[in-house]
Amino acid sequence: MTTQLLELNAAQTSIYSRSNLRRAIKDFDDTEIAGITLQDNLVVVVRTDGSQQTYSREIVVTAYQEFTHRLKHFFSYLGPNYRGPSIWHNNAYILFKGWTYGHALGHISTNAKLQASWADKFIHINDQTKIEALLQSDHTDIGHLIAPDGFRYMQSIELGSAVSDSSGDDIEPQAADTQPKKYAPYCSCGSFKRQLNNLVDFQREIPGYKPMCIHMTWLQKYRALLSERSRVRTEIRGGAAVKCVAWAYAPPEDHVSKGRFVLLHTNSGSMAPISHWRTYKSNEVFTEEHAWDLFFNMLEADYVPFPLTSLPQLSSALKKK
Ligand SMILES: [Zn+2]
Repeated sequence: MTTQLLELNAAQTSIYSRSNLRRAIKDFDDTEIAGITLQDNLVVVVRTDGSQQTYSREIVVTAYQEFTHRLKHFFSYLGPNYRGPSIWHNNAYILFKGWTYGHALGHISTNAKLQASWADKFIHINDQTKIEALLQSDHTDIGHLIAPDGFRYMQSIELGSAVSDSSGDDIEPQAADTQPKKYAPYCSCGSFKRQLNNLVDFQREIPGYKPMCIHMTWLQKYRALLSERSRVRTEIRGGAAVKCVAWAYAPPEDHVSKGRFVLLHTNSGSMAPISHWRTYKSNEVFTEEHAWDLFFNMLEADYVPFPLTSLPQLSSALKKK
């Protein structure tokens, strides 16, 4: 029995890939695969010996979406000195790759050094193609250009028609109307661009599909954190916060271990001497994987977080130890 192998389009190739089959199916054997094809609601895996297995298309779609939407840890996209996304032009941001935090020596990596020297200069480059080439090329891997609410000059462009990954200069701004505008989010990473460029095919596979990537997920979480922080700050009505948390992060020393995330808290304000601070859950070990939850927990309890490095009385005391 032979199955005619239908050529998958770009969207289908991204979705029904070996890696997503592996993610979707426990104990999936990813060796000796001659081809992957589709038949009705099924993904058909054809082996080199001619045998076949079929799997539900839906579970592979779910695995694809979970993987593309996954949330990376808090330090994954911070630049040097815990720098968050930097504002660029047209409602877009520079999202830094967390080179400084992947390893104890990360801060002296070429990419981290490039980030430090370029961070304040990106704003002087107005051209989208140039900025992207500077961020991601054969020589650099600094970060991505991201516009979570779409570029400001892409007026009235509905999601689905902004399929070009060009600078957008060829898109004519339309006359202002009273309809609410729906801007198409954008990220310069390969995954997001592939989705944008093949949007119609993706939407055929997954109705109502909108492009997504790990950078977009991270940025949405980061924004939620910033808005939580400003809520707490507003509630103390401009006064200095008394409930404060100082946090510190030591990246892993090797490529197997996790880093250490440490929190000190006080009810005496951020200027309090070190004797007024207590380690949060000192008998527990926290890593970068706990950072998001811990930040949201602190804010929920109305504690304002500060990087420990910004509090001289703590950072110098800790260094002396
Ligand atoms: Zn992205």
